[in-house]
Amino acid sequence: MHELRWDPVLEEWVILAAHRGKRPLLAKKACPFCPGSEEVAGDWVVKSLPNRFPCLVANPPSPKKDDFYKSARARGVCEVILETKEHDKDLADLPVENIRQLLELQIQRYKELSKKKGIKYVLIFRNKGEVIGVTLHHPHGQIYAFPFVPPKIARELESSAKYAGRTGKCLFCDVIKKERRDKARIVLENEEFICFVPFYAHWPYEVHIFPKRHVLKISELDEKEKASLAAVLKKILTKYNSLFGFSMPYTMVYHNACGQYKHYHFHIEICPPYRSREKLKYPAGTERGAGVWSLDKAPEESARELRRAI
Ligand code: ZN
Ligand code: ZN
Ligand code: FE
Repeated sequence: MHELRWDPVLEEWVILAAHRGKRPLLAKKACPFCPGSEEVAGDWVVKSLPNRFPCLVANPPSPKKDDFYKSARARGVCEVILETKEHDKDLADLPVENIRQLLELQIQRYKELSKKKGIKYVLIFRNKGEVIGVTLHHPHGQIYAFPFVPPKIARELESSAKYAGRTGKCLFCDVIKKERRDKARIVLENEEFICFVPFYAHWPYEVHIFPKRHVLKISELDEKEKASLAAVLKKILTKYNSLFGFSMPYTMVYHNACGQYKHYHFHIEICPPYRSREKLKYPAGTERGAGVWSLDKAPEESARELRRAI
């Protein structure tokens, strides 16, 4: 079974991909992304390939019509992006030039998939760690090309459109300005990028990475910015590992504009699930059930810790 089901209460799509339950938990020996596997033959530093367990596909079946519930075809593309040939490496350990090539490939796939008919949004993301649910440890990220705009992105697009309507300015440019003025939540800053734990963080060690220049999409970054972003990414991910003393799991999601929006501002959001070295933060009753997040550590405090970590 492969379809989109509309939640008429929250007004959002749920992707039903029943076959994905069969995804294997893979040991290194059987890694399909390691040299020796046919799928990844040849010479490469970074490589994209189709996801073998996609939840969105090119030609999904039409769902059964229903007189009450709405459903739709789960049309889209799911790709995997391999970040290195080396199974045991962490993205943070890769040379900056390797990460820069990864960004180039992400941009190329992003552009390509955005052009496809029926695609409304292309999401670049990376899941790391078993606590996040990763079943395959070879360093890789993913790209989903959706036939709809994901609700969180839609909310950001709407709030920034409202802000621009009210002030004539980019909400995110103003957030950056404010974070630079306050300084307390900045983790890292260079000429092109700024990284901070936002005033309004939902996770204790959440970090947002913004280009200082107002760009809507990752594909608008120039050469210097791409090299700079690669260096910044490596530094932030290294800080996580050294502050916590273990290889930090996280979700990392790229937020790009789409459609006709002009007031949006490309950024990357990294959310590690830990609130201290020993403790995970579990989104529970208020978070899952009501959408209310609480933090037991001030963003200013976690920013200070991350700033000091090397
Ligand atoms: Zn591998
Ligand atoms: Zn902006
Ligand atoms: Fe965002």
